[in-house]
Amino acid sequence: MTHYPVPALGDPEGERLPDGLPPVIDAHVHLFPDRLFQAIWDWFDRHGWPIRYRLKTPAAIDFLISRGVRQIVALQYAHKPGIARAMNRYLAQVCRDRREVTGLATVFPGEEGAREILEEALGDGLRGVKLHCHVQCIAPDAPALAPIFELCAERGVPIVMHAGREPRMPALKCDPHQLCAAERVERVLRDHPRLTLCVPHLGCDEYSEYARMLERYEHLWLDTTMMLGGFPGSSQPSPEELIRFLEIRPDRILYGTDFPNLPYAWDREIRTLLTYALAPDKLERLLSTNARALHRLG
Ligand SMILES: [Zn+2]
Repeated sequence: MTHYPVPALGDPEGERLPDGLPPVIDAHVHLFPDRLFQAIWDWFDRHGWPIRYRLKTPAAIDFLISRGVRQIVALQYAHKPGIARAMNRYLAQVCRDRREVTGLATVFPGEEGAREILEEALGDGLRGVKLHCHVQCIAPDAPALAPIFELCAERGVPIVMHAGREPRMPALKCDPHQLCAAERVERVLRDHPRLTLCVPHLGCDEYSEYARMLERYEHLWLDTTMMLGGFPGSSQPSPEELIRFLEIRPDRILYGTDFPNLPYAWDREIRTLLTYALAPDKLERLLSTNARALHRLG
């Protein structure tokens, strides 16, 4: 079992992305209003891992773009009712100010006016919805999520839902192993065939179940966030497991990082990925083509 907080790695970092890569889109970046960012970092320092990059929104964007990342998909999550609307307005403004950033909306499931909050956010330029089962204390197949799934299916925009069981940090209000299970995600996929659903962290830690679902469901996508770098927290997939995912559906796996909320070097995962010597077309799909397709980026 992992003991939290996990120590920082203090590993060296590159000044830019390695040469010779296809375009890189980071499909899993977190951008929050300043006060929320600060609160999240303080929580992670105590209960998760030390945050290496305490960069607020403009600095976090500048950091990645100046190092060669082309585009960023920004995610945020409301941990209580009543704050989503302001968070969405904040992120929509960031997206207007910075062409490189595409943002997803947040809502606290079941809160009053949830549908209106999301309609407003999508109307304001946000391009999908991020849900976080652990932070929002909700099972992937909870009834309160159905209207959100339906709205996104109607609008043809994706949901990115942290629905895997890890990381199981004891300080979370709910036990993610109680809430989350691949079979619950499968129920969502079955009940909402028109929904486009992306599960981050390769579904950590139920890899064989997610590999099976990837084979079976056209509308399931996964991202690699924090699963490539050999970080001691959670149980990470082996390189063979990652390669298996890419063999099953090379068009459904996205590269993402969780930047800036990292305990290790910003480029650690991409450098690890290069050691796998993937075929160039698979690498390009993973690093940008798939994110472009999922989020309809220009
Ligand atoms: Zn994340």
